[in-house]
Amino acid sequence: MTTPVRDLPLLFLGTGSDPASERGVDCPGELPAASDPGLVERARAAKAALGDQVFVLGHHYQRDEVIQFADVTGDSFKLAQQAAARPDAPYIVFCGVHFMAESADILTAGHQQVVLPDLAAGCSMADMATFDQVEECWEALEDAGIADDVVPVTYMNSSADIKAFVGRHGGVVCTSSNAKRALDWAYSKGSKVLFLPDQHLGRNTGVLEMGFSLDDCVVYNPHRPDGGLTHQQMRDAKMLLWRGHCSVHGRFSKESVDDVRARVPGVNVLVHPECRHEVVLNADQIGSTEYIIKTIEAAPAGSAWAVGTELNLVKRLAGAHPDKNIMFLDKTVCFCSTMNRIDLPHLVWSLEALARGEVVNRIEVDAETAHYARVALDQMLALP
Ligand code: SF4
Repeated sequence: MTTPVRDLPLLFLGTGSDPASERGVDCPGELPAASDPGLVERARAAKAALGDQVFVLGHHYQRDEVIQFADVTGDSFKLAQQAAARPDAPYIVFCGVHFMAESADILTAGHQQVVLPDLAAGCSMADMATFDQVEECWEALEDAGIADDVVPVTYMNSSADIKAFVGRHGGVVCTSSNAKRALDWAYSKGSKVLFLPDQHLGRNTGVLEMGFSLDDCVVYNPHRPDGGLTHQQMRDAKMLLWRGHCSVHGRFSKESVDDVRARVPGVNVLVHPECRHEVVLNADQIGSTEYIIKTIEAAPAGSAWAVGTELNLVKRLAGAHPDKNIMFLDKTVCFCSTMNRIDLPHLVWSLEALARGEVVNRIEVDAETAHYARVALDQMLALP
């Protein structure tokens, strides 16, 4: 029996953890005070003491105070690959969120230990698809007589459990850079796709890049019996979109786009495909985090860009390109609150613990889950 997300007990920050979801919040041990003026020096000293023993990964959405200690920066998949390419480092400190650290653990060698400096750094989107809910959805597809025609595709931003589910059912993982290639492959294997957990990436790719109509896509709501769909609706659909979204990118609206165009004549609107369909339809360019960075780098001096992605990244891009007018697409602040859980005190705490030989906040995926998740990840790497 599935427990609807709304019925999960509330976990106050720092009190308890939920290993079955992205909402782990326990942080054992003493954290240094955020006001400690020596934090930067302590992080430097601990990292220097660890030397090649540690490899620090920093996601593009991390705070400046953390990203300065990253050995490599990137999106979630690039970072997991980078971790796997450094088998000489026994400790991987992942400054990102929980599902990313899981992917790094899956892709790295057995002797490497992955540390997430704050276990409260989860991802609200990944939490929108739990294993039980997805199992229940699959049963509904079986009852509708279409499960054999459906290939599951999950976005990288999902838990290891969901990646493993997809691996077990002959599907594939995708990123925002290769979603079209993953869908092309999936439709060569079956006539329908169940796209998890981000409805927007699925819809935007299906409609804008695969030529589907909006009516070809139906939304499966895990909080309603049979996802709120009739069997006929399931049978008629080409794409079943899981009802999940990113709480950061989902905030941008068509009004944000109209407003910036009115305020800044000639502005280019550049957004991430996790944004809502109405936003990408009204944008000038759409692309992954890496695409956004490259586009801004290549833009001519004097050009104006309104960027619809996480605020830490937009601020860093603006700082790195003072010759261009780079602004945040929305008027209100839009950080990823869970990414921002990783701060300097947590980084110092985890590095100093490692320097003492103590591994804290290790993220470890069990062998069977890791095996099937790897099947789906390897299928992504093998995409034509
Ligand atoms: S930006 Fe969105 S998808 Fe990325 S970690 Fe935050 S909530 Fe999850």
